[in-house]
Amino acid sequence: MKKHNFSAGPCILPQEVLKKAADAVLNFNNLNLSLIEISHRSKDFVDVMENARSLVKELLNLPEGYSVLFLQGGASLEFLMTPYNLLKVNGKAGYMNTGTWSTAAIKEAKMMGEINVFASSEDKGFNYIPKNYTVPTDVDYIHCTSNNTIYGTQLKTFPKTDSLLVCDMSSDIFSRQLDFTQFDLIYAGAQKNMGPAGTTLVVVKDEILGKTGRTIPSMLDYQVHIKKDSMYNTPAVFPVYVSMLTLQWLKDLGGISAIEKINEEKAALLYAEIDRNPHFVGYAAKEDRSLMNVTFNLTNESDKEAFDKIWNEAGISGIKGHRSVGGYRASMYNALPLESVKVLIKAMQQLEK
Ligand code: PMP
Repeated sequence: MKKHNFSAGPCILPQEVLKKAADAVLNFNNLNLSLIEISHRSKDFVDVMENARSLVKELLNLPEGYSVLFLQGGASLEFLMTPYNLLKVNGKAGYMNTGTWSTAAIKEAKMMGEINVFASSEDKGFNYIPKNYTVPTDVDYIHCTSNNTIYGTQLKTFPKTDSLLVCDMSSDIFSRQLDFTQFDLIYAGAQKNMGPAGTTLVVVKDEILGKTGRTIPSMLDYQVHIKKDSMYNTPAVFPVYVSMLTLQWLKDLGGISAIEKINEEKAALLYAEIDRNPHFVGYAAKEDRSLMNVTFNLTNESDKEAFDKIWNEAGISGIKGHRSVGGYRASMYNALPLESVKVLIKAMQQLEK
């Protein structure tokens, strides 16, 4: 029996995607060769890359003028690539600090220029999204994190700006409908809603690039990767292939509008139980709660041993909270079935009994 996998990332992927991926590792496209032992320049793999790119454009409903890249180095390298490509020499950028990952993005950007952290929720352990902030106007771009994986908070609205808008969507891309054209650059590590760890999705508006006045090393230059169709160097062939399969799975399911409904249903059920059950208390401010990562604590720490035993025996995996927050975190990415959420709720009710 497969476990109910609430892991924060790498995380659950659709079972049918895993099966197809396993088949392709043994024999890809009936070539009698493995996917991971053929050239990335072969037609079979070039088709995979093109298909993955076009699925991203279709699912995000992107108009002409955006490029889709599959890079390496994780979202963490994008923390640096973003300022390298967008922050002008002697320029400034504005950052929203909503957690550990925003903090890491700010640290890298500070190496490249002046950073104005115009909003932060650090004062309360990042358990909310700042609201009444003033967006600076004298900046090259504004950076935000759409979903804070560790704290379980999510931006419901995005900063309004006439500057460029950059968003780290690592933990909620493809999970909810947004006007993706409000962003000039989006990046996301694959290992939540898209595929295995090892590739990073970058969606970038072409016209914003090449304007900083700085020399950019090739591997950090989005324009180099765009020109070479994400094959400037050997791409992460397996993660890109599995991402393509997951994107196809999402399309067949009805796309983002269909998965959003399911994600809302899962989150509504679990948050209702957290609010109802006197043994639990939610971590994130209610209005900022994430649909993807649900963070909660025991009201009484002495229940820990009993609760841990119950959920372990129910076949649940991966709900231990991040080491910096403690408590529990149930990550409910696109591929997590509603059934798994019901099993977790049952375990919470069993503790109450
Ligand atoms: N941003 C967010 C929102 C994340 O959740 C993570 C990783 N969990 C990262 C950035 C860092 O991603 P990576 O490990 O791919 O560098």
